[in-house]
Amino acid sequence: MMTRRPNVMIVISIVLAAVLTAVAGWVMAQMREDALASARAAAYNMALLFERDAARNLEIYELSLQAVIDALGDPRIAELPDDIRQNVLFDRSATAKHLGVILVANEAGDVIFDSRASPPREVNVADRDYFIVQRDTPNMGLYVSRPFIPRDGAANATIGLSRRLSKPDGTFAGVVVGTMRLDYFRQLMSGVEIGANGVVTLTLADGTLLMRRPYASAMIGKDLADSALFHRFEHVEAGGFFGVGPLDGVRRWFAFRRVEGYPLVFSVAVAAGDIYSEWRVRAWIIGSLTALLDASLITLALVLTRQLRRRERVEDELRALAGTDALTALANRRAFEARADHEWLRARRSGQPLAVMMIDVDRFKRFNDRYGHAAGDGALAAVARAIGAHARRPGDCAARYGGEEFVLLLPETGAAQALAHAERLRAAIEALAVPHEDSPNGVLTASVGVASTSERGFENWRALIEAADAALYTAKRAGRNRVAVWQPSVAREPQDAGPDL
Ligand code: GH3
Ligand code: MG
Ligand code: MG
Repeated sequence: MMTRRPNVMIVISIVLAAVLTAVAGWVMAQMREDALASARAAAYNMALLFERDAARNLEIYELSLQAVIDALGDPRIAELPDDIRQNVLFDRSATAKHLGVILVANEAGDVIFDSRASPPREVNVADRDYFIVQRDTPNMGLYVSRPFIPRDGAANATIGLSRRLSKPDGTFAGVVVGTMRLDYFRQLMSGVEIGANGVVTLTLADGTLLMRRPYASAMIGKDLADSALFHRFEHVEAGGFFGVGPLDGVRRWFAFRRVEGYPLVFSVAVAAGDIYSEWRVRAWIIGSLTALLDASLITLALVLTRQLRRRERVEDELRALAGTDALTALANRRAFEARADHEWLRARRSGQPLAVMMIDVDRFKRFNDRYGHAAGDGALAAVARAIGAHARRPGDCAARYGGEEFVLLLPETGAAQALAHAERLRAAIEALAVPHEDSPNGVLTASVGVASTSERGFENWRALIEAADAALYTAKRAGRNRVAVWQPSVAREPQDAGPDL
């Protein structure tokens, strides 16, 4: 009989492999989340860094513009000699590295003061957007212009921070503008680690691109207001999201931040591929190791299971052999007794009758004497086959009880049914037509004694067998080659007649 143990081992190995895979998967998912979290933090921090630096410089610059406006409001300034007036109007902060020039233009756009030249260069700024905006919008305040190339010949794109000059009655008197080279932002963006496919941008609040890394001069000044990405920056101070670059189709994590007090937005975008590149390598290693481990685990279980099955099969065979009679291939007495125990208890539980037949070959001693022991063995095997053929139902058990005596155990069988079955068996043995010249009818026959618990309760199965044996004795006495069933009265009959030899 095959036990369930081998299958349990396979199931356990599969469960273990599944658990292992789940744990590995969870670890990888955590690592992936961590990679994104640290990339997000880095992007936010960069955006914050850019914002702080830009805000500080813009504020200083704005203070310089305010200083010029304040100074221009003082009527004594006009009387000062040129060089001293230049010093009063433009303090040293205005000459910082990336700051271009501070210009004061009158209401016609003509430059009247120039932080870098005295007397001022002859330039008219009436066509600049900052001039137009400040002229047409009295309460504009600080205006950050769109990028332009300065007229002084410097090729660097620049933006202008402008403020309006008003006459005492509030009418337009001109503008003060400080130019700021976009190179300042370019330098600000350089050096930080954004990965191979990272992008940093600085845009005006209206979507105009001021600076970009990687740098692309053709893109400076481009209007990005229509891009889906830009809309996500609008009206929010800071934030982050996953988006796909409209130009390259690369998925990136965008962290953006508005420069406080200015219409400028920094965005730092780190490519998903870069975020997960290291993770991907680790995931591959962990994943393949896990798969290898899973496969080994299951293979091991399969190999062990196969060996276990083979061993069980051999054990089963040995067990069967130990319970089998070598000559007749029927169960031996030991195996029979075990079965009898089992069926006895089962019958007691179910209340079903249990029948037993004792079969003894007639005048076998004589058969041996005439035909020899080997022929006797052959005849016994033939009789055993006939008996075995009459043990048809699952619980039936045919056994060699000893010598030329056999026993047939028949669960759920009453006396009448057993008697009929015994008669068929007797006839079948006779029909084998094994010649036996010393037998009255010339062939080998057998006598059968039958007993069933349907007739009377027995103490145990041994008592039932004794009853069948008694019936067998009756059959022998009655002339052999016949069947007798045990009846309560039969049991008490004196057993005087010995076997007829
Ligand atoms: P009865 O009709 O009264 O049963 O007569 P019987 O000769 O069969 O009587 P008994 O039981 O005394 O004899 C059994 C004989 O069966 C004795 C023995 O020689 C023979 N025998 C028992 N076991 C074997 C065996 O394994 N092989 C052979 N060839 N003969 C056996
Ligand atoms: Mg005998
Ligand atoms: Mg006999």
